[in-house]
Amino acid sequence: MKHYKTRQNYWMCGLAFTLALLIMACAGQYEDFRFPRESSTTKNGYPTPLSGNPLTKTPVIAKMQGVTLKEYPKHYDPAKESLADNEMRITVLGSGGPAPVRRAQAASGYLVELANGDNFIFDIGPGTSGNLYSMGVHPAYLDKVFINHLHLDHCGGIFPLFDAMGWARNTPLHVWGPSGSTPELGTKAFTENIRKAAEWHVQSKRKLLPTGGTTITCHEIDVSKFSPANPRQLVYDKNDVKIYAFPVVHCIDGSLGYRLEWKGLSFVYTADSEASTFEAEQAKGADVFIHEVFPSPEDFAAHTKMPLEHAENALGEHTLPNELGLIFSIAKPGVGVGSHYTLGDALIDNFFENVAKTYDGPVLLAHDLTVFNVTPEQIVIRQAKTSMLASVPNPPKLEGVDMNPGEPSDSKTPDWLIKTKIEK
Ligand SMILES: [Zn+2]
Ligand SMILES: [Zn+2]
Repeated sequence: MKHYKTRQNYWMCGLAFTLALLIMACAGQYEDFRFPRESSTTKNGYPTPLSGNPLTKTPVIAKMQGVTLKEYPKHYDPAKESLADNEMRITVLGSGGPAPVRRAQAASGYLVELANGDNFIFDIGPGTSGNLYSMGVHPAYLDKVFINHLHLDHCGGIFPLFDAMGWARNTPLHVWGPSGSTPELGTKAFTENIRKAAEWHVQSKRKLLPTGGTTITCHEIDVSKFSPANPRQLVYDKNDVKIYAFPVVHCIDGSLGYRLEWKGLSFVYTADSEASTFEAEQAKGADVFIHEVFPSPEDFAAHTKMPLEHAENALGEHTLPNELGLIFSIAKPGVGVGSHYTLGDALIDNFFENVAKTYDGPVLLAHDLTVFNVTPEQIVIRQAKTSMLASVPNPPKLEGVDMNPGEPSDSKTPDWLIKTKIEK
């Protein structure tokens, strides 16, 4: 009898679960569990992570006087919004760091979308690809990656993007990044080794899917060419989009910042770096200036459980909130953004209190899926509300792309094992 009751309970649970799924399906969308039912604030009145609000008190920034500002929906929904002719959208794909990657904070990554249809990825850290693919952009359009430096929290998420070959991207993946002091320290060596590490993957799929996406084209930026007389290099120049690279101070030679300019709008991203007047000069007047920032060594050690001495060593290569304020006070961006920070209620207040000691302009602390809409008139900052189960949109029609599968690999499953296959 007892056995029967247990089975009945399982059956009832199964029915309830099925009904719940049916209700969700009928509702036509899946809940994004990043958003709780109620929003909340920190002690100092800043939105908390997961509240559905960007971490700032200035979510709307007017760039000029006397113009009517455009109203946006509370959240950005990729399925419902397109860009105006002169509009840039920047999305934080990953606001965290490596220690450790968190469910709500992927490592570094940013997507820049322009109204002309161009898309650019800046850094592709672990955990960013799920956020990237939820943004309603087909992976065939996500073929330009600019890596700031080769710490794995900035480039270690490249495999899922490379793996879009065959099913989505049938043209090479283009990767820009720094050279190093020696060839093995550069982006070319990194991309060649990524491709080599994927050899089994590529060969095993060669006869099944188009092979045009199985290559990485590296555009290595020669860091030895930078000097006070040559502070930045133009590394991308197409469709009125210009992207400049400039060096920053971080660990060893080969860490970059990037500045993207299009139709008078500008985005600057310096990933890991110690505060310097040089980088602040390169970021001058940018609409959105994203710069790394870390909590104090004591707070970082508490988060990572590493010895304080090691936390102090690591943070010697990074920027603290009061130093970030000094950088912003020179660069004077439309909005200054701290990223790569450990989010938590008390640490958020700590960030804003310390930045305010040295800077009083608009500041935001990055959170995954924070979205900036930038136009000549304004900067609007919201959180994206994307589907946790997003599929990709329709693929583009690309002319002249060979969609035929390639030659099979010489490697075969052994005959004796094949003979044991169950008939389909
Ligand atoms: Zn780094
Ligand atoms: Zn980093």
